[in-house]
Amino acid sequence: MGHRVRSRLRQAADGSCAPLPGLDAGAGKARELSPVVPSENVGAHGSLVQLSDYEPFIGADGVDRISTKARALGDRRVVNFNATYYGGGVAETLSSLTLLMNTLGIEAEWRVLQGTPDFFNVTKKLHNALQGAPIDLTSTKKRIYEEVVFENAVRNYLDHDLVIAHDPQTLPLIDHYRKHAPWIWRCHIDLSHPDGATWTYLAPFIERFDAVILSCPEYRQELRTPQVFFMPAINPFNRKNRELSEAEIDERLAHYGIPTDRPLVVQISRFDRWKDPQGVVAAFQQATREVDATLVLLGNFATDDPEGGAIYESLLKSRDERILVLSHGDDTALVNGLQRRAAVVVQKSLREGFGLTVAEAMWKGTPVIGGNVGGIRHQIEDGVNGFLVSSVDEAATRIVQLLKDEGLRKRLGERARETVRERFLLTRYLEQYLDLFNSFETSFRLRSVPA
Ligand code: UDP
Repeated sequence: MGHRVRSRLRQAADGSCAPLPGLDAGAGKARELSPVVPSENVGAHGSLVQLSDYEPFIGADGVDRISTKARALGDRRVVNFNATYYGGGVAETLSSLTLLMNTLGIEAEWRVLQGTPDFFNVTKKLHNALQGAPIDLTSTKKRIYEEVVFENAVRNYLDHDLVIAHDPQTLPLIDHYRKHAPWIWRCHIDLSHPDGATWTYLAPFIERFDAVILSCPEYRQELRTPQVFFMPAINPFNRKNRELSEAEIDERLAHYGIPTDRPLVVQISRFDRWKDPQGVVAAFQQATREVDATLVLLGNFATDDPEGGAIYESLLKSRDERILVLSHGDDTALVNGLQRRAAVVVQKSLREGFGLTVAEAMWKGTPVIGGNVGGIRHQIEDGVNGFLVSSVDEAATRIVQLLKDEGLRKRLGERARETVRERFLLTRYLEQYLDLFNSFETSFRLRSVPA
């Protein structure tokens, strides 16, 4: 990053209202050094979202406490590695979190592994296996995985103060660097039932790390490396979560021909077997024997997930006048509008590391029916701020109950928003990272005693 941009961000972290980097740059070199600031991150002051923007939600004390922790880190350089710049919750949170860290003076970078289709086929299988699916872990698969990560290591020079590698795709990176800084493995997957052989293969990589972050305490594994538990969180200011007017929502729904004459039941997910879209269709069909509604299954495809196309194709067979299967999930305003307009959001996952879509819908005051698995269980308190379900029948029953009872929808929705304000805003996640960064000690060991 250019020095010019860096000093602007520092000014912003000091509380001054810095002009947008890049927007006022003159011609020539200065412009080249300046990043394009995406409008998604334009906050209340027409600048990058600042910690102070969160004051209405976390209070002045919260802002001060977090700023102090960030200051203690000085201009520490942090690099994140993951496998996709787009699609899924990891990219979603990295995009907001790295920007927020930079506004606080921490030099947080985000690098994405370059992978081949073969590589992503193997890493999706590893991902599925860590969530409990069977895998034939051949030496060819291991070679493809390790070779591509090695090539990425060759291309990426690191002299950072902290390295964070996300999910299994990035694990072997640690084999290819002389370690000058703490390395953290951040795993976002539901590790409640990992495949034994896969875990045995990956554990030696994991144990070379200095800390492991998992999303939920129940994912804890037998490891020598210390494990901590941070749940992801949402950015309330980006295009996906910011307030929308009714007219804006109407416009987005009309644009995609989504009918609003009946209540909407909505699931928004990557096209992925663990999200159980077929189960959602079955529950909806059962529910509509008693109530009228329209189901919208909105999805997108992550660049590191080669299975999405086949799942999407198979879902198309379920389409009818009242079951819409849309692949326009890249339109974040549509995601926002649907989560707001839905009478009920469903996230009927069979495995779910955390489930950002749950927090996103809850933030909008919409009641969520979630699969009783993984991170969803930490967000939804059954019957208090949403419902947890373990079968198609249970999901159908809750859809009917919610569609028939507007008062219940309102009560659960209000509690849901409060849950997110208290526990699932990005500042809480940021603070956990800062606490972890501040917990590493430097040790200087003599290799030998000089004569
Ligand atoms: N998402 C989206 N469009 C879609 C499907 C998903 O923008 O069509 C977003 C969703 O809003 C959330 C993220 O992708 O921010 C998914 O994160 P989650 O933790 O729910 O699931 P993951 O895909 O990481 O398993």
